Amino acid sequence: MSTATTTSPSDAQATTDRQRFVYMETMGCQMNVYDTERMGETLAAERYAPTDDRTAADLIVINTCSVREKSEHKMISLLGKLRPLKEHNPELVLAVSGCVAQQEGERLLKKVPHLDLVLGPDQIPELPRLVREARDAHARAAAVDFVHRRDYQFAEAQAPTDGRVTSFVTVMKGCNKFCAFCIVPSTRGREVSKPSEAVVAEVARLADAGVREVTLLGQNVNSYGLDKRGRHGGDGEVDFAGLIAKVAAVPGMERIRFTTSHPMDCSDSLIEAFGTTPELMPWFHLPIQSGSERVLRMMRRRTVVEDYVARIQRLETVRPGIAMSTDIIVGFPGETEEDHAQTLELLERVRYSTIFAFMYSPRPGTAAARIDDDIPLPTKKRRLHEIQALQNGITADWMATFAGREVQVLFEGPSTQYARGAASNSLAKRPVGGPPQLMGRTPENIKVNVETHDFYALRDWPGRLARVRIDEVGRHSLNGSLIGFD
Ligand code: SF4
Repeated sequence: MSTATTTSPSDAQATTDRQRFVYMETMGCQMNVYDTERMGETLAAERYAPTDDRTAADLIVINTCSVREKSEHKMISLLGKLRPLKEHNPELVLAVSGCVAQQEGERLLKKVPHLDLVLGPDQIPELPRLVREARDAHARAAAVDFVHRRDYQFAEAQAPTDGRVTSFVTVMKGCNKFCAFCIVPSTRGREVSKPSEAVVAEVARLADAGVREVTLLGQNVNSYGLDKRGRHGGDGEVDFAGLIAKVAAVPGMERIRFTTSHPMDCSDSLIEAFGTTPELMPWFHLPIQSGSERVLRMMRRRTVVEDYVARIQRLETVRPGIAMSTDIIVGFPGETEEDHAQTLELLERVRYSTIFAFMYSPRPGTAAARIDDDIPLPTKKRRLHEIQALQNGITADWMATFAGREVQVLFEGPSTQYARGAASNSLAKRPVGGPPQLMGRTPENIKVNVETHDFYALRDWPGRLARVRIDEVGRHSLNGSLIGFD
């Protein structure tokens, strides 16, 4: 995934503390999207406003991902494209943050002479100072130290001022699992949980500002609190199910989601929470990676397929209709046709709503990178195609079950299509040749577009829960009509 933040830099002032502009590009997971938002907030205090125009930027930050080789290539290619900009404007500060930055450190500065800053995820609070030093003293720096867990300061999500009704809230950082293919424990460090009182206070502030849905975020949220309490309880800190209960009790917070999880830490109490907490949405991303025990062992996943399936069956019992999704890595070293067939079989058994399937590529610094990447590319491609073709059919069957149904929707804002039309119109948020169309999500996290003749809908509907009848089913979204508000 790649996103860029947007604003026009039309009101720049040519003073010493003039308004400056930052262009930020995000690669990878939601954790990176969250980090980009935090960087934007720290920079706002230094009078940096976001822009989607690289040529108008005083600072460019590329927030990188090293989980997939493709993202890393994209970063290198983007840095190459930015070189002429830097040559044309030596005052431009160019920074790389995120997992590649953490991994490469000083090496990246040596490899890319026009790069000013390399910033690891723990160093986000230092970004304004480093940018100032790069700008004023042309000081190049690689800040990639991990902060000791005792001193780690979590950034807090700022109350949105742009009418957003959903927000991420980081509840922990790092990972202790060391799956063979994954670089995260090296780039994000060990698990540190944010104290539950701090999470609740942050969620309460967001609720006061109009946020109605939070996604609790971490590399492995299921192990929330273990660093403080151990597996058998400890200093009074709650486990993840306990945290969800606390967040659900915050007045005004209608919906809770979380991502991402490791099956090993999907506890009984978390499964029970899906049955007892209506605010916890019936959507669970539970990465398995392969349907083969043999491959899971090679991946060091510490997951048994039958246990995993049994947990999903229990989830489906306590919360009928829960939407399950997963990640699949195709062509891990040593994966046989039999292993691949077991993955296909698992997809048939679980019938996920969606999956994220990728061809394996070795990531430097991981245990798997020391194993021969022995599956030929055409074989990986064919297996990926078979997995996607099977899943496309399963997803289509699942989506078809929504036809004609009444669903609950939390409206978020204009639909993507309508917003694009409005953005190209100088009178943003005014009709652009058609009635307003709003986007919301079902509890299962499916986008629903609803057209209306209420021209105040763009102002009044976001943040409201409504009943919607589904008229049309697309591949990944639904169209419906408003029945009424809850
Ligand atoms: S659980 Fe495994 S795949 Fe997930 S972040 Fe940790 S090491 Fe990576």
